Amino acid sequence: MNYYGKELSALIAQLSALPGIGGKTAQRLAFHIVNMPAQQAQALAASIVDAKEHIRYCKECCTLTDQELCPICSNEERDHSTIMVVETSRDLAAYEKTGKYNGVYHVLQGAISPQLGIGPADIRLKELLTRLQGDVQEVIIATNSSLEGEATAMYISRLIKPAGIRVSRIASGIPVGGDLEYIDEVTLLRALEGRTNL
Ligand code: ZN
Repeated sequence: MNYYGKELSALIAQLSALPGIGGKTAQRLAFHIVNMPAQQAQALAASIVDAKEHIRYCKECCTLTDQELCPICSNEERDHSTIMVVETSRDLAAYEKTGKYNGVYHVLQGAISPQLGIGPADIRLKELLTRLQGDVQEVIIATNSSLEGEATAMYISRLIKPAGIRVSRIASGIPVGGDLEYIDEVTLLRALEGRTNL
């Protein structure tokens, strides 16, 4: 890609390192950025730096936020004794969009995957266990129905059931391998309402 010159090649390389962006898309985006008004390109760069600087994990539920406690954890109207365990902040957003869940969340920031070498210590499980020492009535496991999501659900239920806390799993109305993020709100609600005790 030397024919593009050093700067443009570097921009294309950075963009193509992003998930889901192949070489061709990276080139298209790079040309688009280069042709943007300077102000817009600066705003884009600044928002990347800003997000990176200010966004952190909520100290309670481990979701991505810009405060010490995310808006859900700091909301006293929410039912803090019901914790829904999800894999990512995007899954949390999917359930929030339904507007029908009033509990709080725990975001694992991943799932257990022996294949990828991701073990229990690599996700935010320790933080979940710490929270269970408080007043928790139910843990709803809403990990994806992929192999990894199921393995994670099994692992968590075995871990916390002896503590005498109700552990449930969302119904499998969700297609196998289905990413929670892409599933419509009605299906999500049905899965939540049809949850079964583990
Ligand atoms: Zn939180």
